[in-house]
Amino acid sequence: KDKNTLIESSQPKETFEDVGGLDEVKKKIKMSFILPLQQPEFFQAYGKEAGGSLLLYGPPGCGKTYLAKAIAGEIDANFVHLELQAILSMYVGQSEHNLHDVFEKAREQKPCVLFIDELDALGGNRHNMRQHHERMLVNQLLIELDGLHSFNEQVYVIGATNTPWYLDPALRRPGRFNHLVFIPPPTLEERETILSLKAQGKPQESLNLNKLAKKTNHFSGADLGQVIQDAIDVVLQKSLEVGELLPLTNDSLLKALKGRKPTTLEW
Ligand code: ATP
Repeated sequence: KDKNTLIESSQPKETFEDVGGLDEVKKKIKMSFILPLQQPEFFQAYGKEAGGSLLLYGPPGCGKTYLAKAIAGEIDANFVHLELQAILSMYVGQSEHNLHDVFEKAREQKPCVLFIDELDALGGNRHNMRQHHERMLVNQLLIELDGLHSFNEQVYVIGATNTPWYLDPALRRPGRFNHLVFIPPPTLEERETILSLKAQGKPQESLNLNKLAKKTNHFSGADLGQVIQDAIDVVLQKSLEVGELLPLTNDSLLKALKGRKPTTLEW
């Protein structure tokens, strides 16, 4: 992490294969975001403008951050993660300054995916001081976004929010966050895929993940990962006790599921 711990930077190894399900979303992102970067001449020939930024929205824990990392992995870019809430909690002036630093940092590391989380923090619609602060930060963000666009920098901005309806409309204009993509909770089939991705490579006996998927309606990818992790923790501890590697079992997974509630319903 950077000096002020706001800027986390990495070189993600994840690709689309690590993200379970979301096939339509991946296709759309390839067409609207990745291919225009890789083969701009095709898009220009048909009058399609390359560039602009992606805005991912949907309930928490369903893969927005994970997908953004995988996009960086797909195009071999660095990944800079900015949590807007942290910037917003600073003093007026300092916030704008830091936002600028983050964009600078992303430019230094190009090609780079700059992931801006919690965009809804800039929603407005709260008490006055706060609104003023937010507006200042929105303005700074617009300056930075437009700057990237006009200099054709290899910094690709992906925003995320749980509540797109709170977003400042200025952020949605062409060239800014103009591609809006919904990241929904996983379907039954997708839950099975995510569960198997999370259990992959761990000691296991033949698992009936379809059954577990059926019992986890409305669970997010993060919820599912947590169930597997909880089961692993129990099996690992037992393994250490007996001194041999015990497998994950259906029973251990069902026990881990007990008492867990899906988190996407509150959205
Ligand atoms: P928030 O809105 O709370 O920031 P998010 O949508 O950004 O949530 P992520 O941080 O991407 O959620 O997901 C949390 C974790 O859940 C990921 O690190 C990943 O392990 C797991 N996960 C979520 N969705 C998927 C998926 N489709 N495939 C595989 N893993 C997933």
